Amino acid sequence: MLLGGAPSEYIDHATDSDVWHLIYDSLNANFTDILTQPKHILVTRWGADPFSRGSFSFPQPHHQVKWVQALQQLIDHRLGFAGEHCNAQYAGTVHGAYLSGIEAAQNILASLD
Ligand SMILES: Cc1cc2nc3c(=O)[nH]c(=O)nc-3n(C[C@H](O)[C@H](O)[C@H](O)COP(=O)(O)OP(=O)(O)OC[C@H]3O[C@@H](n4cnc5c(N)ncnc54)[C@H](O)[C@@H]3O)c2cc1C
Repeated sequence: MLLGGAPSEYIDHATDSDVWHLIYDSLNANFTDILTQPKHILVTRWGADPFSRGSFSFPQPHHQVKWVQALQQLIDHRLGFAGEHCNAQYAGTVHGAYLSGIEAAQNILASLD
C-alpha cells in the first residue's frame, strides 16, 4: 500500500502489527476472505528517515495543471526541465520523472530541427 498525509505520519511511528491492522481494516472493508496476519511485513518509514524525511513534490489543493505545463516549456529553445514535478499525471513518482525526462529530451530534439 502507498499512503500519504496523516496515515503516512501514523505509520512512521506505529508498530508493524499496528500497520497490519490498518491494512487489514482497509482490505476488510472492500473484500471478503481476507487472509490472516502474514508472518512478516515490510514497512518503509520514509518520514522517520533522517536522510529523506519522506519529502517529495506533490500537487497541493488548488494546484493548476498550467503550472506544470509552464515547467515543461523550453527556455530559449535549449533549456528544459525534467523531473517528478514536471509531470502532471504522475507527479511525485519515479515513472513521472522518467516520462518527464523523455518528454523534455524530445522537446529539445524537436527544437534542433
Ligand atoms: C522517501 C521517498 C519514497 C519514495 N517512494 C517512491 C515509490 O515507492 N515509488 C515511486 O514511484 N516514487 C517514489 N518516490 C518518489 C521518487 O523517488 C521521485 O519522484 C523521483 O526520484 C524523482 O526523480 P527526479 O529525477 O525528479 O528527482 P531526484 O531523483 O530527486 O533527482 C534530482 C537529482 O538532482 C541532484 N541535484 C539537486 N540539486 C543539484 C544541483 N544544484 N546540482 C547538481 N545536481 C543537483 C540531486 O542530487 C538528485 O540526484 C519516493 C520519494 C521519497 C523521498
